[in-house]
Amino acid sequence: MSLIQIRNLRKEYSPDVIPLKSVNADIEAGEVISIIGPSGTGKSTLLRCINRLETPTSGQIIVDGTDVCAPGADLAKLRRIMGMVFQSFNLFPHKMAVENIMLPQQSLLGRSAREAYEEAMKQLERVGLADKARQYPDELSGGQKQRVAIARALAMHPQILLFDEPTSALDPTMVSEVLSVIRDLAGTGLTMLLVTHEMRLARHVSDCVFFMQDGEIYEEGSPEQIFENPLREGTRNFIFRIRSWTYTLSPASRDFHGMTGSLEKFCKDQFLGRRQAMNCQLAVEELAVAFLLPAIESAGKGAFNLTLFAGEEGTERKLMIDCSDFPEGKKLLEDLLKNIPAERRSSKGSPAAQDAESAKSSKAAETSKAKANAMEAAESSRAKADSMEAASAAILENVLRRLPDEGEDTVVFRIL
Ligand code: ADP
Ligand code: MG
Repeated sequence: MSLIQIRNLRKEYSPDVIPLKSVNADIEAGEVISIIGPSGTGKSTLLRCINRLETPTSGQIIVDGTDVCAPGADLAKLRRIMGMVFQSFNLFPHKMAVENIMLPQQSLLGRSAREAYEEAMKQLERVGLADKARQYPDELSGGQKQRVAIARALAMHPQILLFDEPTSALDPTMVSEVLSVIRDLAGTGLTMLLVTHEMRLARHVSDCVFFMQDGEIYEEGSPEQIFENPLREGTRNFIFRIRSWTYTLSPASRDFHGMTGSLEKFCKDQFLGRRQAMNCQLAVEELAVAFLLPAIESAGKGAFNLTLFAGEEGTERKLMIDCSDFPEGKKLLEDLLKNIPAERRSSKGSPAAQDAESAKSSKAAETSKAKANAMEAAESSRAKADSMEAASAAILENVLRRLPDEGEDTVVFRIL
């Protein structure tokens, strides 16, 4: 029997606030489940029902053979086998880190102060904070506070650990220290339910991903399925949205600084390598400045959307340009593309394999090489054609390859 079985779980706050309509799931011991989805779709409510911080309206949650929703259910036992890590740490501000970890062990498990202290130190060591044992929460960074909160949960030796957006209250520079602690816990036999908007974490640590929408688990599957080949439209839309960047080009506001800044952030968020990030920026800038903006202007259009979609590591980074309301743009891009080699499916392997290979080699060297190539190509074409357009085309040739159109009105490239 599964460690956690959820049957027809419903939670209503009021007749028109029903965060959970009907949730059904089976979670095996040792599994790591990531729960993703738009905000307000009941992810936190689901976790809070599972550990009975909330009382479900109806349905069953059977944990280790016991229905924790039944009247008189042993919630103390539930709390002993299940821990939770919150977005906001929930540490006692007037207690030192080590005391925060000792307290629940003494009150819930009846451990002596000495036992609780030894366990607390062991767990602090495990999250890399043994030297901070005597600091108060105020003296710790957000990332350190969250690691103390994780150590506190681990000191209880739970079978199940729930995480509710454990990194979303953190300064971006501190996210990775917390992610690496969570990553280390996966595969240790601990059953984890992880509500997260860190898609890389969900992609790389989970055995299974639940995509929640409208109060139910709308689609569940392996990370590969959910992130690469979602079966249902709602999942596809969500995944596309979180992995894409759209910029509205408008001749009226030639804010390339803003465009570059937001694109840089997107590349960083999507963990593009340096070479790809640079190629991506070159591609977008050249297409926008040298080709699309003048065309938008001469067609008398007000604005135009450029969309970039980042596939997962090792697969494609695609630049998609939807020309449905801009046929002149499509024609222009097609003319431009005549000069750019088509994607080759070479014997060396798929683009994915090539990406993986190039990711291995020195990024810094590649960056400068790519830049040098692009510049060299640009210089030589400039000399030949003495035209800005030819120079831009030469740069583009170095940074992208055409892919088959995905719809009648789109033009799609792979960023090299
Ligand atoms: P998520 O974690 O996916 O963002 P939540 O589970 O926090 O979503 O919330 C789902 C819905 O339930 C939201 O519309 C939220 O406003 C509502 N909600 C959550 N907690 C309460 C509460 N204690 N009382 C009333 N409504 C609530
Ligand atoms: Mg939430």
